[in-house]
Amino acid sequence: MDLRFDPILSIALVLVGVHFIVPIVYYLYARFRLLEKPWNLSISDVYKPKVSIVIPTYNEAGVIRERLDNIYSQDYPRDLLEVIVVDSMSSDGTIDIVREWSYNHHDIKVKIISEEDRRGKAYALNNALRYASGDVVVIADADAIWPRDALSRAISILSDPLVGAVSCLKKPLKPGVMGVEEGYRQYYNILRIAESKVWATPVFHGELAVFKKDLLERIGGFPVDIGADDSYTATRIALLGYRAVIPEDLWVYERVPSRGYTSWRIRRAQHLIQSFTKIIPEIRRAPKQFKKILLVESYIHLVNPWLLPLATILLLTSATLHHNPTSIVVIGIGILLLTIKPYRTWITMQLYLIIAAIKNLYNKEIIWIKQSK
Ligand code: GDP
Ligand code: MN
Repeated sequence: MDLRFDPILSIALVLVGVHFIVPIVYYLYARFRLLEKPWNLSISDVYKPKVSIVIPTYNEAGVIRERLDNIYSQDYPRDLLEVIVVDSMSSDGTIDIVREWSYNHHDIKVKIISEEDRRGKAYALNNALRYASGDVVVIADADAIWPRDALSRAISILSDPLVGAVSCLKKPLKPGVMGVEEGYRQYYNILRIAESKVWATPVFHGELAVFKKDLLERIGGFPVDIGADDSYTATRIALLGYRAVIPEDLWVYERVPSRGYTSWRIRRAQHLIQSFTKIIPEIRRAPKQFKKILLVESYIHLVNPWLLPLATILLLTSATLHHNPTSIVVIGIGILLLTIKPYRTWITMQLYLIIAAIKNLYNKEIIWIKQSK
């Protein structure tokens, strides 16, 4: 074997090394150092604010009734609740179902906003915000299901004066079907909780995202130029100096698309990338601990995925042009490892992020095709 020094191969190996080591070290640090930290929350049981639950809908006739029932059965005092359904021209009769449901449930206040055209979820949320009379505003996606105590537990965490926003962990409603989905969640959930313990997590979930309304107003509402209304809003609130947290035992169920899983994941990756990109100019103003989180997460979402194709190109160059056998072996190992599930999941996620970044150049998916779930 020819073992001469090959600079192209060396650079490729460094790129591969960095690509895997940064997220692994971050994960291990989160898992074994940060996760054992105390929450440092000062929770008050007397905090019972008026809550406006906003359900944005676009063609949710199949799930909206169950969603309203689910909210109705929350253990939070019903007289402190207001449900705002903001619909953007659904063509499947979503609004009629909401009207009928409201007619049959007089002991909960329901406001219905029917938009004249569809301008995206964030636009609709801002519309709802204008009608919200609560001190707390909740995003409650139509395709999620909350445990009975989800809202009251989120609100209790919000009672800490330093907490500005609270979100949840997610479970797919059909367990076991999504191998990739579950693997991804295990890795990310640890990070969400660890970051929350330190200060705030920059990734939130629209299935249950709770905000103090005065803070929403201070940041000018939800961002209409990007898709990640939940994550971006939480990040902005954290930048104001408030915590945006996901507690470790607040799970909600989410419907996962039965078809089109890949394009669903890619769209979500697009939205996250948009959020991290939009926040870059603000990072230097972040509170100290949150700054580190933002730097690492931005790097992991925006830069790190690209090291892989770059390394692959270098390895292929070295293998074909320089006939370096070591490069061929490295490529072979990279392919063989795909038989190992966590590695395969990771590579899949990197591909999604790369495709998402490219797609963002021509379609930001601010208005997206509804996927059947
Ligand atoms: P996903 O969870 O990322 O797949 O996104 P969904 O398609 O589930 O959308 C999240 C929530 O936003 C759902 O309740 C949708 O009905 C709602 N939604 C999506 N687009 C629009 C829109 O243009 N207007 C309104 N009002 N709601 C929307
Ligand atoms: Mn959804």
